[in-house]
Amino acid sequence: MRPLFIYGDPMPSKIILKNISQLILENHPLAPLTTWRIGGTAARLAAPADLEDVWKLMRLAQERGWPLFFLGRGSNVLIDDAGLPGLTLHLAKSLQNLTRHGDTLRAGAGVPLPRLAQAAVRLGFSGFEFLAGIPGTVGAAVRLNVGAEGQTLAGVLKRVWVATPQLQLLELTPPELGLGYRTSLLLNFPHWLVVEAEFNLAHPAGPEAIRDRMAALIAQRKTRQPANPRSCGSVFKNPPGGPAAGRLIEAAGFKGRRLGDAVVSRKHANFILNHGHATAAQVKALMADIQAKVWQTQGVALEREVVWLPEDLA
Ligand SMILES: Cc1cc2nc3c(=O)[nH]c(=O)nc-3n(C[C@H](O)[C@H](O)[C@H](O)COP(=O)(O)OP(=O)(O)OC[C@H]3O[C@@H](n4cnc5c(N)ncnc54)[C@H](O)[C@@H]3O)c2cc1C
Repeated sequence: MRPLFIYGDPMPSKIILKNISQLILENHPLAPLTTWRIGGTAARLAAPADLEDVWKLMRLAQERGWPLFFLGRGSNVLIDDAGLPGLTLHLAKSLQNLTRHGDTLRAGAGVPLPRLAQAAVRLGFSGFEFLAGIPGTVGAAVRLNVGAEGQTLAGVLKRVWVATPQLQLLELTPPELGLGYRTSLLLNFPHWLVVEAEFNLAHPAGPEAIRDRMAALIAQRKTRQPANPRSCGSVFKNPPGGPAAGRLIEAAGFKGRRLGDAVVSRKHANFILNHGHATAAQVKALMADIQAKVWQTQGVALEREVVWLPEDLA
């Protein structure tokens, strides 16, 4: 792990603040920025246009002692009803660069995974089809090594660039990232921001054939997953070697269980849906009930896949 760059120009904070204050919104609602549509407000929210903005915002957070949070498409987070203190960097519309460099494809952290998958199709390379149905961004996908249909991001990833709160830019390879099932080194460094990732274009294939495979995978997902888009996907990780979390939750009798507007899907028990105005407190209570019952009845400790903010960054 080599720092490539240390951001340390002698720019006085006052000048930074003057440029950057237009970027920061105060008391901004976060629920609409998540797929679950749950959570309070961000004390401060900023959407950096480029890496330079990222450095300035990180430096400002450091100077002010503001806790720093990252949000992509909000498809794997449960934001507390009390919202988030400090500064939240919203990346869903930032860092959108997507360019081919020879036999690799480089994507900014904010690029949606379906867009990455479509770009690979257009270039005539397979291996990215499984990403087409995952509604997240590249940066968050690296952090959790997203996967579907037996494939994970690790299979196509070449390297990533990460910005640290110490204002260093690190380049990390997959072995350095320690990618595993829904895990990576980045879980231990929640304030490291993935800014860009590079992917191998290794398997040339006809665009028609790739498109057909992608369409088949998406159709398959539709048969298995609930139609209600207000979820975070799978709430719990699948336990190693055992039945899938959804099966365990179903066996514990939770399909259709409701707490306020938080409802366990009847189609896929590892999905909790927001049927209206569910709160984070309701979802957390439902998750705790599920964990307790699955442990009691089947002796399996279910581990959370969804990230709780701010708790998981404490
Ligand atoms: C309907 C549905 C289906 C899904 N299917 C799948 C699936 O098949 N497979 C799968 O693996 N996941 C799946 N997911 C979960 C989710 O889409 C992925 O985990 C995705 O990578 C999250 O991306 P995001 O941009 O929404 O991240 P967010 O939810 O915004 O953030 C998730 C975490 O990543 C951090 N983060 C965000 N951006 C960065 C960054 N640039 N650098 C470092 N940390 C960052 C956040 O702080 C947070 O801790 C599904 C979700 C939904 C709603």
